[in-house]
Amino acid sequence: MRAVRALVLREHGYELWWEEVPTPVPGRGEVLVRVEACGVGLTVLNYMSGVSRVHAEKLPRVPGHEFVGTVVACGPEVDGSLQGQRVMAYFYLSCGSCEFCRLAHEPLCRRLRGQVGVASDGGFAEYATLPAFNALPVPEGVDPIAATVIPDAVSTPFHVCRRAAVGARDVAVVVGAAGGVGIHMVQMLRAFGARVVGVDRGEGKLQTLRSMGFHAVDAGHEGWTEQVREVAGGSVTVAVDLVGRPETLERCVDLLGPRGRLVVLTTFRDVNLSLSPARLVAEEIQVLGCRYASRWEVEQAARMVQEGRVQPVVSEVRPLERAAELVDRLRQGTLLGRGAVVPAQSHT
Ligand SMILES: [Zn+2]
Repeated sequence: MRAVRALVLREHGYELWWEEVPTPVPGRGEVLVRVEACGVGLTVLNYMSGVSRVHAEKLPRVPGHEFVGTVVACGPEVDGSLQGQRVMAYFYLSCGSCEFCRLAHEPLCRRLRGQVGVASDGGFAEYATLPAFNALPVPEGVDPIAATVIPDAVSTPFHVCRRAAVGARDVAVVVGAAGGVGIHMVQMLRAFGARVVGVDRGEGKLQTLRSMGFHAVDAGHEGWTEQVREVAGGSVTVAVDLVGRPETLERCVDLLGPRGRLVVLTTFRDVNLSLSPARLVAEEIQVLGCRYASRWEVEQAARMVQEGRVQPVVSEVRPLERAAELVDRLRQGTLLGRGAVVPAQSHT
């Protein structure tokens, strides 16, 4: 097969090289996917820049984990019925057989090989390989661009709502509510029955949140926690911090009332959280670390999108070779929801 085009990360930073690479060949247990669309979000950006680096990952690498496409070839030991199916990539390269994988806690896999687009080449390319374990079906009627948000930006909120046992009596605040995960987090919390206040910066983002029926508070105002209290009618029961800075974490803890749950998802190596045990006890406050989602949760999240209970928000779409424009928007903090790139449709 001819060479295919891909965006390649050669060194940590924000630059991607537009190159021809050999067509990937599916190995044992893998499928070859013709990529139809790939999401562009902060996780990719953090990986590219190197800030989220835990291990020295191998470069060069084709980034992009939120990809959707059609299976065009199956490697040895793969169920041939996958051929021709539209699939989306499950983010974690879990082993599938350890005690946590067997209990559908794949993000806690004891033999985790890393993540798609980090430890293996991802979807910023015309073609990508994927373990069949990681190729989950895209439901009927969901278009490929909309589907790019399902495996991470919609599934992660689904996991949060289950883990925090969100229900009809909850009042939730989401900090970073108009970003890729945030805009789906507010919708998911509402679908689980909570009243939701979104916090973010920039009039455009706040307007969008309001147009979707959410209370929106501007994080640019020094007194934003007071404003959250005002619209929430007091303290909140669930606080989801997608920013993960000491200041936002502290303010989220302040906002919690009796039986409050602090949900932590965004982490940085230099950030620590200090909490008063007296406060935890007095209000029975819980701190919940949430790590991605299981494959089962991804399939449930997909069903919610198919049923229209969560609307995918992909505000900007570009041809693959112009991904840099979306990277710039993300760096400036001006991208609403998610962005996506689409390879040119020239397959021979
Ligand atoms: Zn495992």
